Amino acid sequence: MTHFDTALSQHVQRTDTGRLRHLITLDGLTRNEITALLDLAQFYVRKPHELPARDQSLAGHTVANLFFEPSTRTRVSFELAAQRLGAYVVNLDMQTSSRVKGETVLDTLYTLQAMHADVLVMRDAEPGLPAQVAPFVASHVSILNAGEAHVSHPTQGLLDALTIRQHKPDFNNLSILIVGDLMHSRVARSTWRALNTLGIGEVRIAGPEHLLPPAHEFKGAIRHTDINKAIQDVDVVMALRIQKERMQQAHIPDDSGYCREFGLTPERMKLAKPDAIVMHPAPMNRGVEITDDVADGKQSVIQQQVTNGVAVRMAVLATIARGAHGQ
Ligand code: ASP
Repeated sequence: MTHFDTALSQHVQRTDTGRLRHLITLDGLTRNEITALLDLAQFYVRKPHELPARDQSLAGHTVANLFFEPSTRTRVSFELAAQRLGAYVVNLDMQTSSRVKGETVLDTLYTLQAMHADVLVMRDAEPGLPAQVAPFVASHVSILNAGEAHVSHPTQGLLDALTIRQHKPDFNNLSILIVGDLMHSRVARSTWRALNTLGIGEVRIAGPEHLLPPAHEFKGAIRHTDINKAIQDVDVVMALRIQKERMQQAHIPDDSGYCREFGLTPERMKLAKPDAIVMHPAPMNRGVEITDDVADGKQSVIQQQVTNGVAVRMAVLATIARGAHGQ
């Protein structure tokens, strides 16, 4: 898999005065910027029995969701986040959009901006697309990356960092294990970036050799191919889905063999710290990378990740609206 250079993404996502106008990558965001986003997201978090937070930060704005790859959580949470900030929201049905008739993505974006959409939330299987289109949209329009191929998924990285911070705020002394198909995971890349910028103590990565990322990525992380060693005494365990859609058939591990070697089982969880938390970005393949007992067990914070996803996307939308319009 080719290494993707994020220098362009970092450059194009800021205004001339350095404000965040688009969110394409977490690379280049400072510790203060990430902390400010997490603090604002935390402000929007509500307890399960309370009404969701809402304000009018995006009143009069229009947010368009363009998901050219499947999504449940990210798409719905961007929609709810935008609505709860007072925006109008449109969801394009990509099966029936004009891209299938050969329209370029840029023409689709021009069409939406001509209708006064000012935040375009994009997910696509093509690496680099958000950074390529961002320089061409009108100055009132922001592009938010909701999942770019295997490259990045910035809002997922933020919501993972927020979830960890809620349970284990002392980042310097934390040890996290990310296990599974890191090679194809945009989540792992963005979460690692966020945690690194926030000064996480130790990151371990584990998986079958051919699903670990190239050596120049995840700098400083400790690589393992034996999960039983990798999981010893960690504070956080994050399992990843096998991204079959990004693999050639020959590389897809068989489900039960994978679970035996790398799955999060109750027995394996005993090797982590007793108060370790379990995360998964979902969708989960139960019985493959995680068993039911662990996914639904006491240590699981997987549903909390989903709840935090809405709060994080509210924080990103509100921050971007300020950056784009200089408020
Ligand atoms: N939902 C996450 C993503 O879009 C994780 C996954 O699909 O496995 O990358």
